[in-house]
Amino acid sequence: MISEKPRVRFAPSPTGYLHVGGLRTALYNYLFAKHNNGKFILRIEDTDRNRFVEGAIDNLVESLKWCGLEYDEGPGSSDKFGPYLQSQRLHYYKTFADELIEKGKAYYCFCTPERLDKLREEQQRLKLPQAKYDKHCLHLSKNEIDENLHKGLSHVIRLNVEADKKIIFNDIVRGQVEFNSNNVDDQVLIKGDGYPTYHLANVVDDHLMQITHVIRGEEWLSSTPKHVLLYDFFEWEKPIFAHLPLLLNPDRTKLSKRQGDVAVEDYRKKGFLPDALVNFVALLGWNAGDDKEFYNMDELVEKFSLERVNKSGAVFDLEKLNWLNSEHLRQKPDLELLQFLKKEAQKLNINFQDFSDDYLLKIINVMKERVIFINEYFTKSKFFFEAPNAYEQAAIDKNWKSETPDELNKLCEAFAALMDPAKEDFEKALTITAETLNIGKGKLIHPLRLAVSGLSVGPGVFDILFILGKNESIKRIKTALHKIKKDDH
Ligand code: GLU
Repeated sequence: MISEKPRVRFAPSPTGYLHVGGLRTALYNYLFAKHNNGKFILRIEDTDRNRFVEGAIDNLVESLKWCGLEYDEGPGSSDKFGPYLQSQRLHYYKTFADELIEKGKAYYCFCTPERLDKLREEQQRLKLPQAKYDKHCLHLSKNEIDENLHKGLSHVIRLNVEADKKIIFNDIVRGQVEFNSNNVDDQVLIKGDGYPTYHLANVVDDHLMQITHVIRGEEWLSSTPKHVLLYDFFEWEKPIFAHLPLLLNPDRTKLSKRQGDVAVEDYRKKGFLPDALVNFVALLGWNAGDDKEFYNMDELVEKFSLERVNKSGAVFDLEKLNWLNSEHLRQKPDLELLQFLKKEAQKLNINFQDFSDDYLLKIINVMKERVIFINEYFTKSKFFFEAPNAYEQAAIDKNWKSETPDELNKLCEAFAALMDPAKEDFEKALTITAETLNIGKGKLIHPLRLAVSGLSVGPGVFDILFILGKNESIKRIKTALHKIKKDDH
């Protein structure tokens, strides 16, 4: 149980888009914060000046917002822990790096790129498991250092990692994790351009922002020993760590752009609902301990715990995302779907003025169970919005017999006699016509469906007739009789 109110952060580098892995990290932080009455903070780690992307922060905030992840503190908020962009906090990092130098826990390094390259080559030649800095500059005298600084020699500040030490920390997901300091490089903390590296800035900010839990992807696990050393050197209390499992392609390789979309924006454009994407992403590494897969945000907040996050990689299964989208769509109230439909129509340039809300709601009613995406209301049941101008050839070959025109004409007569027919009235009229003609109902139903919709599959044919109405249905049957006959000759 957490004794204090947690403060957690999502700390992306602004790359220009929100990766689904980033969304998973943000979501788990958000759920954890909300479940425990804590604070969810967005901190932008933008200290890599080479990677600056115009508009990236707005884009990120917008994607998070679309997913329903509003932050309590972050860019634009005026809390005492801000600013929330690392590029606006540079003064802190230098001060703390100096403190480490004074303590002998960090040192200036003046090595040239040429020397470092040579060192690396040499280590590769010796087949050392890992290239590491050789602490050359740790042994410079105070005078040499002062002189170099005075001359304005380009330099970095490095972490002074002691050899042969065990670095141990607890991780909620992975249990006790142990590293040997011999495998930890003397990490650069302040770069040649005066900017901090991720490691220093991250630890300083987590400390200053009083972050209680660091919840992030497994790819950062190998950085954690460096962070643990920094906490120890500063004599700061460490946050609790939780490293989330990797996201995998179905072939169990690391999730990559090459095998599909990775940006939240891509899924948004494809018509996925934020509710479905969030539900899907929540299940990438977490479950509540039962078989339940359908969740809305409130249920996720209620059920989420870090203890139920698993270690093994989570496979990104698009089939499941599709399924969840159809489920979430189905759960929406009809009036909300109506608004979705109108918006989609606008996007597709379909003129919706011609159709009443009542008409559209009837379509929603019969198509709800049959669509995965909103746009399928148009692609799968276009016939509700315009009469078919072509008919499935395979269905003609199979079901359109020489006697069909006579039979459908009889059916039209029966329909014409109906007064303001309901779905059942169409059905009754067809049953009676089939009896009168002494044929099976199927002989009428298949060509009838083809005539009114142009298709061989879709919602129930009597639903279609009812929605289109008597006059439009008869008109379409007549057109089909004319066209299909004509096409045959
Ligand atoms: N800036 C890092 C990233 O881009 C943050 C990692 C962390 O949460 O410590 O993901």
